[in-house]
Amino acid sequence: MMKKNRVEISEVGPRDGLQNIKTIMSLPDKKAWVSALADAGLSEIEVGSFVPPSLLPQLADTAELVAHALTIDGLTVAVLVPNYKGAENAVRAGVHKITIPLSASESHSLANVNRTHKQMLEEVEQIAALLRKLPEGRRPHFEGSISTAFGCTIEGAVPEKKILELAMALMTAGCDEVGLSDTTGYANPANVQKLVKAVKTEVGDKNLTGLHLHNTRGLGLANALAALDVGITTLDASQGGLGGCPFAPGASGNIVTEDLVYMLDAMGIETGISLEKLIVSRHMLHTYLPDEPLYGFIADAGLPKDYRS
Ligand code: ZN
Repeated sequence: MMKKNRVEISEVGPRDGLQNIKTIMSLPDKKAWVSALADAGLSEIEVGSFVPPSLLPQLADTAELVAHALTIDGLTVAVLVPNYKGAENAVRAGVHKITIPLSASESHSLANVNRTHKQMLEEVEQIAALLRKLPEGRRPHFEGSISTAFGCTIEGAVPEKKILELAMALMTAGCDEVGLSDTTGYANPANVQKLVKAVKTEVGDKNLTGLHLHNTRGLGLANALAALDVGITTLDASQGGLGGCPFAPGASGNIVTEDLVYMLDAMGIETGISLEKLIVSRHMLHTYLPDEPLYGFIADAGLPKDYRS
C-alpha cells in the first residue's frame, strides 16, 4: 500500500508527558511551551486532561491552558477525558477535540478508572448525547481510544475479537472515530498492521486514522512506519519522549516527536513541522524541567551533512 505524503502529528507531551512526571510545570511555562510547539508547526496538541485535580495535580490547570491554546491560530486543541464530568468541563473550556480512553483489558479499566467496559460505554453514550446538543460549529470531535490495545500488563495479550467488539461499540455509542493506543509498549510492526487492518475493516477505513504509540521497547518508530503502510495518517508523539516509562528505566514515554519528524522529513513525507523550531522548543522544555530526562537522537546527533528538509 502507498504511504500518504502527509502525516499529521498530534503532540501529546503536555498531557501524556507531564502526567508521568512529578515536578509540576508552571502554567506560564506550559503556555510558552505549547506556543513554541505550535510555532514549530504542530497543528494538533493534546494540552491536558480533565481529571480531578486531587488525582493529577500536574494537570489541574488544564482549563487555563486550553484557554491559552485556543488563542493560537489554526491549532486544534485536544484534551483527554476519563468520564462524562471531564467531557462537560472540556466542552465548557471550548476544546476542539475530546478523546476518551477505553481500556481493552477490563482488569486495566477497573484498576485505572474503576469502571467495567459496560459502564465506560454508557459514559461514552452520555458524552455523545451532550455533544449532539451543541451547535454544529462548536461541537468537538469525539474520539474513543482503545488503550492497552496491543496487550496489557495485567491480562497480557488481548484477543483481537475483543478489540473489534470494543471498536464497534465505541462507534455505536456515538464516537466520531476510534483510535488505538499501545499504552504498554507491547506493539510490534507486524501486530500493528494486523490490528489496524482488522479494525479498519470492522468500523470503516475513515473511522480509524490515528495511533498512539509508546517507545517502551524501542519499536516506536518501526511501529509508526508500519502503521503508515496500512493507512494510518495521524500519529501521537511527545517532545523529548517526556515522561519516560515508569516500568522501563531508560525508555522514553511516547515516540519522540523530534525523531518522528526527522524520519518522515528525511523520507520526503510532509509533516508541516520545522525541525529547527522543534529543537528550539525542546531546549525551552529542558529549561523549564531541568531535572527531567529528555529522550531521542536527532536533537543530540544533529542533522546529517548536506541534509535538506
Ligand atoms: Zn500514552
